[in-house]
Amino acid sequence: MSQITFLYQLQTIDSEIDRLTKRIDTINTIISSDQEIIKSLSSLEDSNKKQSLQLKSLEKIEEEVSRNKSKIKQSEDKLYSGVVKNPKELQDLQTEIKSIKNRISDLEDEQLEIMLVLEDIDSEVKQKNYYHQQLIEEKTKNNISLLQEKKELEIDLQKQLTQREPAINQISEDVLAKYNHLRKIRSGVAVAILDENTCSACGTSLTSADVQKVRAHDSDYFCSSCKRFLFSG
Ligand SMILES: [Zn+2]
Repeated sequence: MSQITFLYQLQTIDSEIDRLTKRIDTINTIISSDQEIIKSLSSLEDSNKKQSLQLKSLEKIEEEVSRNKSKIKQSEDKLYSGVVKNPKELQDLQTEIKSIKNRISDLEDEQLEIMLVLEDIDSEVKQKNYYHQQLIEEKTKNNISLLQEKKELEIDLQKQLTQREPAINQISEDVLAKYNHLRKIRSGVAVAILDENTCSACGTSLTSADVQKVRAHDSDYFCSSCKRFLFSG
């Protein structure tokens, strides 16, 4: 086989290695990226904070209600004990009980308001938690399938690397150096295919004399425009 045929084989192998390596890199990036999960967790934590703040306020109010209820109990006990006989003092006690009852009624209104707000926050937390769990589940499932794909790609990559060596051994050092240089400056493609009478890489048309050279597998022939090796199968 001619040098250009081996070069074309090498190009096919290298293009495949490039494709496999690129996909493996992409998979690694996807697997290690958890932006969406971090975002959803932070949003869930915000709602959890809101929830616990409201619960604390509710607790405070409940404590105050209970403190006021014991105050009423004390005052009523005093009122009905018969110990207090002075009408002014009795009147004061009644006024105090009334004012505490008003305070309790206000507190209970507040309590109700907070409970309504809490209801909304509870459902928000529930929704965000569900969404977050879904994301984790999805991500885990996705990672498993990506890792499986990566495993298969790595096996393919190993195969290509094994095939690369014998192909290289058939190519002379200077042609190989030219090939490596072209790969670097021509986006990884050093060998283009002759497609009818045009270069498959840049689309330039060849004269019929040049087409003959390519068909004769002349490894000294380069596309006049993109300077790549040209191969005709
Ligand atoms: Zn070209």
